[in-house]
Amino acid sequence: MATGNINVSVENIFPLIKKFLYSDHEIFLRELISNATDATLKLKHLTSIGEVSVEYGNPVIEVKVDKEGKKLHIIDQGIGMTSEEIQKYINEVAFSGAEEFLEKYKDSAKDSGIIGHFGLGFYSAFMVAEKVEIISKSYKEDEKAAHWTCDGSPQFTLEEHDKTVRGTEIILHIAEDSTEFLEDARISELLVKYNKFMPIPIKFGTKEETLPLPEDAEEGAEPEKITVDNIINNPNPAWTKQPADLEEDDYKKFYRELYPMQFEEPLFNIHLNVDYPFNLTGILYFPKLGNDMNMQKDRIQLYQNQVFVTDNVEGIVPEFLTMLKGVIDSPDIPLNVSRSYLQADGNVKKISSYITRKVADKLNSLFKNNREDFEAKWDDIKIVIEYGMLSEEKFFDKADKFALYPSVDGTYYTYEELHEKIKDAQTDKDDKTIILYASNKDQQHSYIEAAKEKGYEVLLLDSPIVSHLIQKLETSKENISFVRVDADHIDNLIKKDEEQISKLSDEEKEKLKTTLTEVVPADKYTVQLEAMDSGASPFMITQPEFMRRMKEMQQTGGGMFGMGNFPEMYNLVVNTNHELVGQILNTKTRKKQERLIKQSLDLARLSQNLLTGEELTQFIKRSYEMIK
Ligand code: ADP
Repeated sequence: MATGNINVSVENIFPLIKKFLYSDHEIFLRELISNATDATLKLKHLTSIGEVSVEYGNPVIEVKVDKEGKKLHIIDQGIGMTSEEIQKYINEVAFSGAEEFLEKYKDSAKDSGIIGHFGLGFYSAFMVAEKVEIISKSYKEDEKAAHWTCDGSPQFTLEEHDKTVRGTEIILHIAEDSTEFLEDARISELLVKYNKFMPIPIKFGTKEETLPLPEDAEEGAEPEKITVDNIINNPNPAWTKQPADLEEDDYKKFYRELYPMQFEEPLFNIHLNVDYPFNLTGILYFPKLGNDMNMQKDRIQLYQNQVFVTDNVEGIVPEFLTMLKGVIDSPDIPLNVSRSYLQADGNVKKISSYITRKVADKLNSLFKNNREDFEAKWDDIKIVIEYGMLSEEKFFDKADKFALYPSVDGTYYTYEELHEKIKDAQTDKDDKTIILYASNKDQQHSYIEAAKEKGYEVLLLDSPIVSHLIQKLETSKENISFVRVDADHIDNLIKKDEEQISKLSDEEKEKLKTTLTEVVPADKYTVQLEAMDSGASPFMITQPEFMRRMKEMQQTGGGMFGMGNFPEMYNLVVNTNHELVGQILNTKTRKKQERLIKQSLDLARLSQNLLTGEELTQFIKRSYEMIK
């Protein structure tokens, strides 16, 4: 038997390992299974090129919990290690690797969020074990098996062992403070989390399976039950296959595999597959999003060579696409760095723009090949597209061809189609084309009707970030302007050269304005007299486009203007050509005049959903009194 000292330069590395990333202790299992997988894949490679004569067979990696003995075993049938190799790879290479890692990250570990996902390798075993054994038999025929033991001090022992089957067994003597890793449920949870799609089958315990009844079975016969290995993972997940080999159903099946608790089917998927200038595979899914931007339960998962790394892909996938689901797998993403460094990394930048391009191309082809279906899905995907148009210039350029603008009547236009359709009727006297929109068909019903009566088209734009998108479109397109139907009275929204003819003289208007401003609260409403059609509403509440839009942008985190709180200001548009308004003007008793104004104002507020609470109650009471 040999004993020796591991060459320590970081003083007492083991306590350090233990302390390191306390919350991430669980990654030790992923690290050890990754090693077991690598060892198995190396053997596969050697046998495939005819380098070794041993049989590859159907190797599995087995994980066993020995609760009584307080041990956890990880057993592989890979290439194994000779005693010299253990000396070299474990005592020297792996150790100095772990040492270097700690030296580099012990101070910065906590702040980055991502290096916690980067393993220490073999020595991470000491995060949970007080003693670790390696029993290994190399694939090389004449080599004896070796047995390495280390109790966490820099001292180790290395001796011969009588193991005859090829491969490596790692035995962890679980420490007192880590007994959670002796619970089947906990290990099972970790295996599912990190190793669900690893390329070598992982066995953990056994399970009972019921065999189908044979065809000639007698009536009432019990089906036979057998005990089989419980295999945790799917070694050949869909994203590792070629798109040509997969059917629509395979993609759906894989979605359910990824998110077993997700019952809603995805709308469509995008298969990513590049090997130059970087390596990336994956499948992204568009879930039904609606107008909810915060539905982030099941997120995109990042893998490296089928090993789960994280479900926080911020910095790797463009932000607007983090609303999607699915997996990406790339060995070319550096993980041992902080997020800010990650975003500056050349490969990561390329990956991010590749993903953006693929998503845009897919959307474009869906739009082109089946527009009807694309329109049907629009409401569920628009938030991603609109967000992307706002945040990525390149995506904006591509999306301009397939982004849709639905009308209140359910016609879907592309920007170009819309412009073509409205430019004659909706260009004002200053040559600006005015795009009218509503955010709620019911609430803005009377305003929509007024616009339609003029032959105008009204869009229905109701996503939460639409004010930002409008702002963006106004700056990137020429000579257009968006305005919500309730921003002013319709003749003011699209100003034509027509002269307004007023029934009231200037003097009368002056008098009316004075009367109105005496009754209408000035801190909330600015009175605006308009000579409109006599059939149009006498009183109407509008909210200027600019103010309302800034407010909305602020609420959805635009932040670009950094203004304080916007006051809730409205205009009270009064139609001087309406009979009722003439009546108000000519009413002799002050009390009656006031009552008419108040009632009219409340009706106008009611139609904008601005009359609530106490005021609404009073209004209703008053109205009953009037009709009594
Ligand atoms: P890394 O895997 O990053 O190289 P590790 O510290 O995890 O670093 O392992 C160090 C080395 O020990 C590996 O490169 C490999 O040569 C060897 N090794 C570890 N585990 C096994 C195993 N189960 N079978 C064969 N060799 C192994």
